[in-house]
Amino acid sequence: MHELGITENLLSLALEQATQAQAQRITKIEVLIGQDSDTSEESIRFYFDLLAPGTIAEGATLSFERVATRFRCPHCQRLLSPKEASGGCSNCGERHLELAAGKELYLKSIDVE
Ligand SMILES: [Zn+2]
Repeated sequence: MHELGITENLLSLALEQATQAQAQRITKIEVLIGQDSDTSEESIRFYFDLLAPGTIAEGATLSFERVATRFRCPHCQRLLSPKEASGGCSNCGERHLELAAGKELYLKSIDVE
C-alpha cells in the first residue's frame, strides 16, 4: 500500500506550505498525477480522509490533474506520445525509449484561508 506513504508526504508538504503562509485552514489541495502512474486517486482520497482529521487540512477538497504520458527518444531527443512510441521512435526508429512524463505524482498547489 504505497499510497499511504504518498498521501502522508502530500499531506505533510501541504501542511508545511500552509504553515509558511500562516494559514488557518487548507481548503483545497491540487495534486498532479501522471496518466501512467499506478497510484489510484481513490486510495489517496481514502488515506487522506484517515490522515487529515485533526490537522488544518481536515475537510479540504482534493483535486487531481492528470499529466499525459510522454516518451523521450535518447537518440534524436524527440518527445513522443505513447502512440508515436509504440513501435520505437516514429522519427528515427530507436527502440529504447525513456519515459519522460506520466509517472509523476506531486503537490501542485494548495488553497488556504
Ligand atoms: Zn528518435
